[in-house]
Amino acid sequence: MLGSVLPFSEPVADRVSAYCEERSTPISDTLADHWEWTRTHFLDADKMSSKLQGSWMIYTAKDRKPKRVLEIGCYSGYSALAWYEGTKDTQAEIISLELSPKMIEASRAAFKKFGVEDRVKLIEGYADDSLLKLEGEFDLIFVDANKDGYAGYVKTILDRKLLSKGGIILCDNVFARGLTIGPDCAPWVNDHARAYWLGCGKALDEFNTELVKDPRVDVLILPVFDGVTQIRWRD
Ligand code: SAM
Repeated sequence: MLGSVLPFSEPVADRVSAYCEERSTPISDTLADHWEWTRTHFLDADKMSSKLQGSWMIYTAKDRKPKRVLEIGCYSGYSALAWYEGTKDTQAEIISLELSPKMIEASRAAFKKFGVEDRVKLIEGYADDSLLKLEGEFDLIFVDANKDGYAGYVKTILDRKLLSKGGIILCDNVFARGLTIGPDCAPWVNDHARAYWLGCGKALDEFNTELVKDPRVDVLILPVFDGVTQIRWRD
């Protein structure tokens, strides 16, 4: 196989997701409960990462052993809880940035309910502003907020050296449901969501295309989930 992506049909892709989820180390019951609670309480719950992504976050955190984690885009707190679960060994500090008052309220309540406030800190406001105030370095940075902000976020992270030597930035959804690759690449995205994701796709295509030209970093785009861009300092 010379290509990097299998040509799954939509129903087969669903089966592949289920297959992987059922045969991967599952997220904890508490995390699964919070995922289910979010799914049933918010109409835009598709903003939340999947259960398999939660397993990936926990696995990645256990593997990389970060001492500090930064997350841009908290939503209901699901991913911050996954980073928490994956860093029980290192007792990492986890900082999550969020703008929406509704999601700030929901995630704060979740952090209290699950007793994770000892290590999870939520910073309210625009991520661009918060990034300018952060001090020190982070070993794992998860970029998962407004897609037209990715280029600015990563530039600030690199310019301000918020990424540690040996650290990694993971940018989620860089395929914008497939529309980053081309407007004809995601016929299954409904009309209601299409205009939004087309805009995201345009911004993310510019982000991906410019980022690889930055001589400071190595970049790897992985065709997993909705596309994940990995970034590390170049040696
Ligand atoms: N990381 C979460 C997870 O895995 O479940 C999902 C995050 S959701 C895709 C994106 C979040 O970013 C939303 O809650 C949104 O309110 C927040 N957001 C959007 N624009 C933002 C901004 N400029 N600054 C901070 N947060 C922002």
